[in-house]
Amino acid sequence: MKHDLRNPLNHIRTTGVNGLMRTEKIRRCSKCVLPEHTPNIVFDEEGICNYCHTYRKFEYKGEAELLRLLDSQRKADGEYDCIVTLSGGRDSSYVLLKLVKDYDMRVLAVNYRNPFTHTQAEKNIENAIKSLNVDIVRFKLKNNVHERTFRKNVLAWFRRPSPALIPMMCIACKNIWWNILNIAKKHKIRCIVSGGNPLEYSSFKRELLHVSRDENVELAFIKTFYGLLQEVFKNPAYFDPSCIPTMVKGYLFGDPNAIGSRLVGHKITRLDLFHFIKWDEQEVLSRIETELDWDYPREFGSTWRFDCEVDFLKNFMYLKTLKLTEKDGFYAKLVREGLITRRDALSRLQKENKVFFDEMQSVLRKVGIEDITFLAKQGSITKHLHT
Ligand SMILES: [Zn+2]
Repeated sequence: MKHDLRNPLNHIRTTGVNGLMRTEKIRRCSKCVLPEHTPNIVFDEEGICNYCHTYRKFEYKGEAELLRLLDSQRKADGEYDCIVTLSGGRDSSYVLLKLVKDYDMRVLAVNYRNPFTHTQAEKNIENAIKSLNVDIVRFKLKNNVHERTFRKNVLAWFRRPSPALIPMMCIACKNIWWNILNIAKKHKIRCIVSGGNPLEYSSFKRELLHVSRDENVELAFIKTFYGLLQEVFKNPAYFDPSCIPTMVKGYLFGDPNAIGSRLVGHKITRLDLFHFIKWDEQEVLSRIETELDWDYPREFGSTWRFDCEVDFLKNFMYLKTLKLTEKDGFYAKLVREGLITRRDALSRLQKENKVFFDEMQSVLRKVGIEDITFLAKQGSITKHLHT
């Protein structure tokens, strides 16, 4: 059947992803790669941005300190020494490998069965567990709470698109620490290790919520949450009674420093491997690929963040509202840390900042949103040419 080209959705179907993209020259920081659309960005006379000027390199706590903390958790009786949270993505897989093989910890892997997990991430979890011969506990959130809140928040977002509220789609994921802390208690485990990468925290997202990009980590979560609430008040579509408990729990357990986490997780040590040892992309990838048979879907051109399919939608929303994605922020930091060159970052962004329409459609279908004409009404998305 011939599509009616006057219907914008059919236009996308006919022209594919490129139908959504248009090309525009944009200015980027001459030192990192942050584009001119970054919230609160200012360039000096040499074209260097204010994010670069105030940036302080991350200070790692060191492997000796990590080993001291891990040694204090080792048990003699064959019980689990610690939990490792596993998503099937590259960093959490590496953490599991490192803890089991290099640090000889007796690990219980814990996985949240996210309804939007990519099939390749599922395979990676199975392969990792088998290769390392570790036990795993997998859990779901009750009553399809993740799907329900995601559906409502996505629909609310498209009524009044705001970049500050994009993280609201993932509010259910801020609930899972309650479950993880309780699994730890049940197994008498006092230590949880994760793969949180300090370089991944997008500074521009904080700026959107009026929290300084240089804010101290402990205060940042609370301030970010209040910023999010202020934004939510501007869009009444977010006020759905069935979503409020998820928001409250997200506030209580969304971060190790949140009040609920501190109460329930009293006496439980939470560690992020990459706060102690340097995150080295090559080392992470080469070891998990060879030792765990880890892989990623090649069609997206990136090993980062494919494990949750909601990311495809998130990228679309950021491109739509800010003409950038979280990758701009992440690669800019890698440049400042000296981990990749500016040229590398530019070529990655050119390749990876794309709209994956079929994947977005499939995520929306999972929550029963079949009519996606609203996506097509969003207009074109800017594809950047670098200056
Ligand atoms: Zn810069």
